[in-house]
Amino acid sequence: MNNNSLNLVASRAKYRVLGTNDDASDCLCCGRQGLKRVVWLQPLAEDGDDDGQPVHFGTMCAARACGWGYSSRDDAARRIVREEAEAVKHYRGIVSAAMKALIQDGFVVQTRVAYGFNWKSADWNYGYIYTLPGDPIIRAVTPEAQRAEVPAAKARLRAKYPLFEATERNLTVFEMRERLAAIEKAVA
Ligand SMILES: [Zn+2]
Repeated sequence: MNNNSLNLVASRAKYRVLGTNDDASDCLCCGRQGLKRVVWLQPLAEDGDDDGQPVHFGTMCAARACGWGYSSRDDAARRIVREEAEAVKHYRGIVSAAMKALIQDGFVVQTRVAYGFNWKSADWNYGYIYTLPGDPIIRAVTPEAQRAEVPAAKARLRAKYPLFEATERNLTVFEMRERLAAIEKAVA
């Protein structure tokens, strides 16, 4: 087993597919240039953790590096789409755990605020939003003042912990990774 490609096929996953885009046009594996799209792969350590920076490969080199053993480009492309969906799930899990940890540790709190007026019942609708612990919205007394402050409170939270944008819209794998890295700086 001193053949490299055999080793790749026989052992555990060495890469996680992150996604495809046109941020690069060359393959770091074989040096091919002028690619319309590249596949971004995150190298993995023995324990499955990220190991270093992502690399960008062409489709066929990515399939080979991942040990899928595909001969057709279409098969490889289909597999990459499936792997991308897995990566989204994987990072959503991490994002959700990271948000929970920030809440548990008190870096982020749930604040009950009036977010809208219900004209039918002539009453305010209340609900919880995530905010920073000392956010001005916590001191807003009237429902009008709370509602007016909601967008700014959310913006302040996102400025400090961009990860919480995940509660507003679906983030891409690349966005989730970026925001997870930002947390380490924010709580340091
Ligand atoms: Zn290549």
